[in-house]
Amino acid sequence: QLGDTVHWDRWLCDEGNSYKDFLYRVLLLGDHGVGKSSLAGIFGGVSNREESPGVDHYERTLTVDGEETTLVVMDTWEPDKLEEEDVMKKASAYLIVYSITDRSSFESASELRIRLRRLRQADDIPIILVGNKSDLVRSRDISIEEGRACAVMFDCKFIETSACLHHQVGELFQGVVRQIRLRRRHPPP
Ligand code: GDP
Ligand code: MG
Repeated sequence: QLGDTVHWDRWLCDEGNSYKDFLYRVLLLGDHGVGKSSLAGIFGGVSNREESPGVDHYERTLTVDGEETTLVVMDTWEPDKLEEEDVMKKASAYLIVYSITDRSSFESASELRIRLRRLRQADDIPIILVGNKSDLVRSRDISIEEGRACAVMFDCKFIETSACLHHQVGELFQGVVRQIRLRRRHPPP
């Protein structure tokens, strides 16, 4: 289990006017089969997912723009529990994943964005819309323009990835770190 000593809430780490780096919890959301566990496994450096069944969170320290930040990526998504469980309710960032080949997963992503907005109304939390399976060119159902437009409408960041090819997965997690830092440097009053 993740230790009780960890200060999950990023604003708890105030030391004078500087905000120390500590752990940021990132939650993967989205329909079954869109590639959440695959993305989490790549983040965790797992070469073969069969080797580590049952692992549902990965901790790694990334160096982005010359500075280290530790992320814990949670692959514990359960649709019914978003509003119930602290681990979901209080994440530092959310990745809403859909498959570019599956329109119903794209529609679910919009619904999740609305639920997150309701849940974290008062907080400025990084949310990234992730269109995964970009390698499946011939069965693509959601264009990159449509994905991007959705992100603009829902006021979140957007990226397309292929967990299969490891394409843009590093960029995704670097983007999360940058989004978290932007807010850390401009904390709410
Ligand atoms: P989860 O249910 O959201 O955790 O999805 P998984 O990570 O278990 O992936 C579901 C299936 O989609 C698996 O068979 C994966 O191999 C496959 N998959 C995941 N990401 C990609 C991708 O980027 N491209 C392709 N072609 N398949 C993928
Ligand atoms: Mg999974």
